[in-house]
Amino acid sequence: MVPFRRLTLLFFITLLSLNLWNIFYGKSAGGFVFNHAILLYGLLITTYFGVSFAMAFLPCSNFHHHVICGGVTDDHAVSITFDDGPDPVKTPLILKMLEKHDVKATFFQIGKHLTNNEQLVKQMVEEEHLVGNHSYSHSNWFDLFSPDKIRSELLETDRLIKNITGKSPLFFRPPFGVVNPLVSMALKNMHWKTICWNIRSLDTMKTDPRKIKEKILRKLKPGAIILLHDTTPFTEHHLEALLTAIKNAGYKIVPLDILLKLPAYAS
Ligand SMILES: [Zn+2]
Repeated sequence: MVPFRRLTLLFFITLLSLNLWNIFYGKSAGGFVFNHAILLYGLLITTYFGVSFAMAFLPCSNFHHHVICGGVTDDHAVSITFDDGPDPVKTPLILKMLEKHDVKATFFQIGKHLTNNEQLVKQMVEEEHLVGNHSYSHSNWFDLFSPDKIRSELLETDRLIKNITGKSPLFFRPPFGVVNPLVSMALKNMHWKTICWNIRSLDTMKTDPRKIKEKILRKLKPGAIILLHDTTPFTEHHLEALLTAIKNAGYKIVPLDILLKLPAYAS
């Protein structure tokens, strides 16, 4: 049982106990519980919703859903992942750099970006990179969509990727790394493995490439999944330096399916 369900169970048991106490004993016994009932109800409800909300932003806690954030290995092996593409300008430069260094990466694609970039996606698969699902719209409101709408976005992106590559992805990366009860409900009993990361480069926020690189290198560890974006100036201009530095630190860069020992596509 994921911790969210346990918290929900505990919330309702406490709520019920509080109600029963106040109905059967409260008035006659008086005391703290009866006199501060409103405060206690407020505290209980705020705690429940506050914890649920906060944990949606910590997907690796597995609070709302089972999420994979790294590989279990003693090997000095890590994976590089790129989100938010394909980008018609930056992605080809990244593919070229990966080929030069013989590195296989994983690209989590936004469905709406696939149109007119089909050749790039074909190239990724031909060059043995992996392609995953990163929603269709990547809307700022994605995490507040209904489970049905979230699921239909993922199925549409799967369909587009399959039309282009012939492969049906099993790896899903939630937009913004947010996994709340709505996302969890959408994923329930579906085929996707939810993949996040344990090294967030912040390449979309930080502008100093030296700091981005240092942050990644500082956090390197066996089984690490590194989050980058094929849409940022950092990956466009500084990927080569990063790849070299990772290799110089004694790490090999492997595809995500090898790192996680999981298939990337449905058979
Ligand atoms: Zn994204």
